[in-house]
Amino acid sequence: MSAYQAPLAEMQFVMNELAGLGQIAKLPGFAEAAPETVTAILDEAAKFATNVLDPLNGPGDREGAKRLPDGSVKTPAGFKDAYWQFVKNGWNGLTKSEKYGGQGLPQLVATAVEEMWHASNMAFDLCPLLTQGAIEAIELRGSDKLKATYLPKMVEGSWTGTMNLTEPQAGSDLAAVRTRAVPQGDGTYKLFGQKIFITYGEHDYTDNIIHLVLARTPDAPEGVKGISLFVVPKFLVNDDGSLGPRNDVHCVSIEHKLGIHASPTAVMAYGDHGGAVGYVVGEENRGLEYMFIMMNLARFSVGMEGVGISERAYQRAVAHARERVQGKAVGFEKGPATRPIIEHPDIRRMLMTMRAYTEAMRAVAYVTAAAMDNARSHPEADARKRHQAFVDLLIPIVKGWSTEVAQDVTYLGVQVHGGMGFIEETGAAQHYRDARIITIYEGTTGIQANDLIGRKTARDAGATASQVAGEIDRVAAKLASHGDKSLQAIGLSLASAVAELQAAIEWVVRTFAENPRVAHAGSVPYLHLWGIVAGGWQMGRAALLASQQLASGQGDAEFLRAKIATARFYADSMLPQASGFAHTITEGGESVLALPAAAF
Ligand SMILES: Cc1cc2nc3c(=O)[nH]c(=O)nc-3n(C[C@H](O)[C@H](O)[C@H](O)COP(=O)(O)OP(=O)(O)OC[C@H]3O[C@@H](n4cnc5c(N)ncnc54)[C@H](O)[C@@H]3O)c2cc1C
Repeated sequence: MSAYQAPLAEMQFVMNELAGLGQIAKLPGFAEAAPETVTAILDEAAKFATNVLDPLNGPGDREGAKRLPDGSVKTPAGFKDAYWQFVKNGWNGLTKSEKYGGQGLPQLVATAVEEMWHASNMAFDLCPLLTQGAIEAIELRGSDKLKATYLPKMVEGSWTGTMNLTEPQAGSDLAAVRTRAVPQGDGTYKLFGQKIFITYGEHDYTDNIIHLVLARTPDAPEGVKGISLFVVPKFLVNDDGSLGPRNDVHCVSIEHKLGIHASPTAVMAYGDHGGAVGYVVGEENRGLEYMFIMMNLARFSVGMEGVGISERAYQRAVAHARERVQGKAVGFEKGPATRPIIEHPDIRRMLMTMRAYTEAMRAVAYVTAAAMDNARSHPEADARKRHQAFVDLLIPIVKGWSTEVAQDVTYLGVQVHGGMGFIEETGAAQHYRDARIITIYEGTTGIQANDLIGRKTARDAGATASQVAGEIDRVAAKLASHGDKSLQAIGLSLASAVAELQAAIEWVVRTFAENPRVAHAGSVPYLHLWGIVAGGWQMGRAALLASQQLASGQGDAEFLRAKIATARFYADSMLPQASGFAHTITEGGESVLALPAAAF
């Protein structure tokens, strides 16, 4: 059996060399993120992930969360205890404001830590992940009273948060939300309605749960412009901060799911007994706008689930491939008649694919996290704007591409195990099942791709997209003119992939206006194209930096050589997909739409 080991050397390389932690630590407010402190934080997080969360992952999957007849929900053995260790160690408020008890660390540092939680136990980490979203909503737009009442407890982790968006008729299309919020004349509201699929909507970790709920006031306009956001606590909170009466919000059932069994997914009933007391966040009718502001972070975090679970699946596959002995390996004439399967070229192909994708996704995500820090804290307004534009472009790619690629990586994780991969006891099957949700919640891949072609590409006539593509092209040119043959090959491959991307950007801008249905037919391939090329960009940068370090005798030579070899594999095996995606985008739209709906 394999135990999760956080890939600390790799994480540090990506943070320091690719994402520029040194520069981030110099931004106002981030002095705490000095390299020694960050190393200590990562070491502690790695221990918690390996020793506490990882051992609970399999048993949590087998036991699952259960709803009891009294409506309470019991999480699997050990989870509550792990949650309180997590809270006591201060992990909940890593990036949150010091004003509310957080540690005010950069998103870049929190991203590496978050990867470890996702890798070791995704079902566990969904609770803090949703709490982060709820904190963000209150902090961004809540009144001083809401902030003072809820944030200290939520940042600490002694109360958790949820996001209540989805209803049976309102999933991807939140304009269809019907939950009602009736003003009571005293500044409060009473909510009535049903929410479905609410992650950690009920659980036994904490004595209060703070629900963030989308609902409509009686005279609200139709559609997206009539949705407001409310705080609805499970227990009302007295003025002195103690818990008051039980609010009229109840978990009526939890779902039986394909994966993440330890994470309760609840159907929540609001107002069945007179109305659930709620408090509006910000102004009425601007709820969806607020949700979109905070969705960036939530979507990014789900993209990080893709990175984390891919790393875990890779580690498990490597461990199995080293142990399992089967058959003669091609090309070994001498030595033992049979060898571990890691010696078979096809197993190597699968492991390299898993490894290269995971490294590429990680690099793209960490670079985006650093841009989030710059967008928030850079002293120059122009730089903040530039970084924000980059973040806005990259969020649907980190979310959409990393979660889709995680499907391939966890699939290969099962394949490397052979028949045992299909049997639950190895754990490979759990990663495959757990990963399946991440392309769906926080906006499906289709929704991310709509965002990428519409708001993020066509809206500014491709300006940001082309600017980033130009940046990638410059890296490709640098690699292509390098003295080292491997780096040259990476550069040539990246140059032709980014040329495909540039042509696709132009096509999307043109076609989005002229023929939006055809443009949308190519939206998911366009998202994949972006992911593949952005991954190649970061792998190329990594190869350049690794080669510089090798030349100057810095760093761990074995690690650096492996980095270059993995980047070369990515360039040879993944980047050529770019031309296929580009063809599908620009030529495939008409045939996607050729048949009428009745023909299916
Ligand atoms: C385990 C789990 C946990 C969840 N946790 C939460 C939570 O905590 N809070 C919460 O509010 N919700 C939660 N959800 C709900 C989740 O966010 C939705 O399931 C998701 O947004 C998709 O909505 P839907 O299920 O209604 O699918 P639909 O919207 O019906 O989508 C079905 C298909 O149609 C496609 N589609 C729909 N509209 C478009 C479009 N405009 N363009 C292109 N394709 C489109 C989708 O991509 C998808 O392939 C959770 C769901 C699950 C399963």
